[in-house]
Amino acid sequence: MAKIGLLLVETRMRDELSTSSTLMCDTSDGWQMMNGSHGAGMSYLDYNATAPIRPEAAAAVIEAMQSVGNASSMHQPGRQAAHRVDLARRQLAGLLNCSPGEIIFTSGATEANNLALRSAYTPGNSLVTSPAEHPAVLETARMVTAERPEDLVLLQVGSDGLVDLNALEQVFVTRSGGVVSLMGANNETGVLTDLRVVAKAVREAGALIHTDATQIVGRLPVDVAELDVDLLSLSAHKFGGPQGVGALYVRRGTPLPHRPLLVGGGQERGWRAGTLNVAGIIGLGAAADAARRNLGEEAERVAALRDRLERLLTLALPDCRLNGRRDQRLPGVTSITFPGVPADAVLAAMPDVAASEGSACASGAPTPSHVLLAMGLSREAADSTIRFSLGYATTDAEIEHAAQAVVRAVTQVRSSLAEADGPR
Ligand code: PMP
Repeated sequence: MAKIGLLLVETRMRDELSTSSTLMCDTSDGWQMMNGSHGAGMSYLDYNATAPIRPEAAAAVIEAMQSVGNASSMHQPGRQAAHRVDLARRQLAGLLNCSPGEIIFTSGATEANNLALRSAYTPGNSLVTSPAEHPAVLETARMVTAERPEDLVLLQVGSDGLVDLNALEQVFVTRSGGVVSLMGANNETGVLTDLRVVAKAVREAGALIHTDATQIVGRLPVDVAELDVDLLSLSAHKFGGPQGVGALYVRRGTPLPHRPLLVGGGQERGWRAGTLNVAGIIGLGAAADAARRNLGEEAERVAALRDRLERLLTLALPDCRLNGRRDQRLPGVTSITFPGVPADAVLAAMPDVAASEGSACASGAPTPSHVLLAMGLSREAADSTIRFSLGYATTDAEIEHAAQAVVRAVTQVRSSLAEADGPR
């Protein structure tokens, strides 16, 4: 039975597929980037968890790690390190269209979100966000408002993954001031928030705007001046920089009380004490620069690959469902529900495809995706959903290989479940 099912779907897909090379290979040390045709049939489709480091960023990190110098030291090696950090600040500022002095380097977006909300929220004022935010925003929001839970307002999310922005105006009918934090793009569905609409409502109410732009920076153009946001968080490893480094943009002149998470040596203008992660910051800068140069072409190419993956899967598995507003998404993300087929079983049945069940941060925890639940999916549907996320280095071959592997795995799992349920 399983074999017949497989034959059927493979026949349906055959015309769509072609043979070509693949980019990833599995070594004894893990998955590594490969060049051209030497790959061993692996597909890395988990860019929203972390993207492979860009060659420019890897080279910059290695070079920086081979040099000595604390960016706060006055001697020459120290000044050289500071000089390189300045360059990275300018490179990131170039990607965001801000001034270098508006950037605070952090350990990643989690820290940037914590710093932003702890600073921008003042008890007695509202903190408006949505239930589909990343835990780094949601948990921080819950924590800072723990003594005044009435200050926390969660806007509803529609079945298309869009936050109800009409409700935002309603919030400000009875309240003013405070801070609104809405993500630029959702990490599980890729659905984009219209930050211009948010900014308009928030400005009229005299509140501050923070956006967790972790998934959008380096994937689509982000111009902070045009978006009119006060605070923006990002993480280098989502756009091809190293892990463990990120930044918070704070618009000059933003009335922000000084509430650093880390105090000590006063680095980053007193906003983030501790010796700068020089190599990480330099890698972030190099990745920002590389992403900025190719932003348009990369986004277009990646969107075409994502669409192809969706076409191949919906053709072979017509009952699968795509989640989230399709015309308002990141180019490289698709969240797909395979009804009745547990995502963990599918992922286990295709070890040569790296994708995620819900979000990577929640993987391993027995709770279903809070994002999909907020969109109204049932627990069962949420548990049968896989997120595929593509990026700058994804190849045609990876998509074709992944599509075949997913169809095979879903069919196998479905058949095993049917056999287990059948007469004994
Ligand atoms: N926000 C979003 C939207 C994310 O996707 C992530 C990473 N999964 C984070 C914040 C946290 O980033 P980091 O783990 O690099 O601090």
